[in-house]
Amino acid sequence: MKCDFLIVGAGFSGSVLAERIANDLKKDVIIIEKRNHIGGNCYDEFDEHGIFIHRYGPHLFHTNNKEIVDYLSQFTNWYEYQHRVLAYSKGEYYPIPINKETINRVYKINLRNEEEVKAFLDNIREKRFPIKNSEDIIVNQLGLELFERFFKYFTYKQWNYYPQDLSPSVCGRIPVRYDSDDRYFQDKFQILPEDGFTKMFEKILNNNRISLILGHDFKKIINSINHKYLIYTGPIDYFFDYKFGKLPYRSIEFRFQNFKLESYQPAPVVNYVDKEVPYTRATEYKKITGQKSNSTTVSFEYPNSGEEPYYPILNDVNFALFKKYESEAKKCRNLILCGRLAEYRYYNMDQVVARALHTYKTIINHL
Ligand code: FAD
Ligand code: UDP
Repeated sequence: MKCDFLIVGAGFSGSVLAERIANDLKKDVIIIEKRNHIGGNCYDEFDEHGIFIHRYGPHLFHTNNKEIVDYLSQFTNWYEYQHRVLAYSKGEYYPIPINKETINRVYKINLRNEEEVKAFLDNIREKRFPIKNSEDIIVNQLGLELFERFFKYFTYKQWNYYPQDLSPSVCGRIPVRYDSDDRYFQDKFQILPEDGFTKMFEKILNNNRISLILGHDFKKIINSINHKYLIYTGPIDYFFDYKFGKLPYRSIEFRFQNFKLESYQPAPVVNYVDKEVPYTRATEYKKITGQKSNSTTVSFEYPNSGEEPYYPILNDVNFALFKKYESEAKKCRNLILCGRLAEYRYYNMDQVVARALHTYKTIINHL
């Protein structure tokens, strides 16, 4: 077998690069994907009960970048979807991100406007400077009580580290709202592909110049494929046979359960923030897709340190190890790294598409 570009991974980064190289550069691409499907972690499908689910946990597209929306709109129509999350704490549901309502309910008070919320938080927050970790960033805005209740144990369950041992960028993803806005995101574009992500990926990859090899680890077959350039979107430490040691990634077990109920929970996602509950999030997919059915499927997320990498674990030690792998990669001619696992970055989907489009530009500039 022979191609110009060999790409490892058929997630967003691999698929967008394949599309650009095939359609724009008019070069041949072979993609090797170890799973038996395309789409990476964004893969969605109907389950055995006829409910449309996201196989690797809820994927909500949100961005302020119109260029990314325009690019993806070549491959899908969209529907508007504004995500909402409730935290379940000590038997009650509260809006997340923490907003005026959350604070009023926790403290049994009646703050009426943003000024009152800001003044209240100014009293309870604990000033931290400099902000060195995920505890500092939350306690500095919300104080210890809200931090412990909504962030400390959820984060520990999710990462197996307390927030004090994680980069501020982890919990810093969650804003504080001084008003009653209970949407999870405030981006300009909050949309989902009309027929799902998998169908969108099928269109992205629909080109005779793109060949797909599914169900194979690249290491087993790479020697039989003659290629000029290699684009790698898998875990970088695996690429180098863990020569500097294993780079930690957090894994998750998604346990799906179908209930013979119209509705299972009061929101599309419920975050279980108490330490006693072994799972983190419960996602009810019908509430994301709007599907009508008399049964409903819910996924429960059990984070673990298993083999399938989902999240880079961001802290200084791990990032330093990543840097060693990255400089090793720079020594390899014609090797291009892109994506969440290869770049060890906590990219959202829109950021990964932007990253792939940027990588494509650097490729064409260097040819
Ligand atoms: P991936 O999708 O991981 O693709 C990499 C591909 O490489 C995989 O298909 C993998 O099987 C393949 N691969 C790896 N190793 C090998 C190998 N040795 N040989 C062959 N193939 C290999 N983003 C959002 O914007 N909104 C969300 O709501 C959101 N929710 C998320 C929820 C969860 C639980 C997770 C884990 C992520 C979420 N994300 C979300 C992030 C989103 O999934 C990523 O930004 C995106 O999938 C990254 O694309 P990628 O191509 O870099 O990586
Ligand atoms: N987080 C938390 N409590 C919450 C929501 C989030 O402690 O109710 C923390 C947790 O560490 C999580 C991080 O904030 O991993 C980022 O949350 P986000 O919802 O962005 O996680 P993702 O969707 O990327 O899994």
